[in-house]
Amino acid sequence: MGRLLIFALAVFGLIWLLKRALEGHTDGDARQAPRARGAPGDLVRCAHCGLHLPRADAHGAGGRLYCGEEHARLGPEGE
Ligand SMILES: [Zn+2]
Repeated sequence: MGRLLIFALAVFGLIWLLKRALEGHTDGDARQAPRARGAPGDLVRCAHCGLHLPRADAHGAGGRLYCGEEHARLGPEGE
C-alpha cells in the first residue's frame, strides 16, 4: 500500500515537473495578452479585388471569400 502511494506521488511529481517545464516557455504570456486582445483577428483576402478584411465581415460564395455581396456575385478575378 505504501509503495503504491509513493508510486502515485512520483507520477504526480513527474507530471507537475513536465507541466512546469512546458509553462516555463510561456512566462511572457501575461504581458502579451493585452496585445492579443487588440488584434484585429483573422484577415481574409477578397477573391475578386484582393482587399483584406476581417473574416467576420467577409462574404462567402462558392468556397471563396469576398469583401462584399457585389464581389461575391462577380466571382473570382479573371474567371
Ligand atoms: Zn472585393
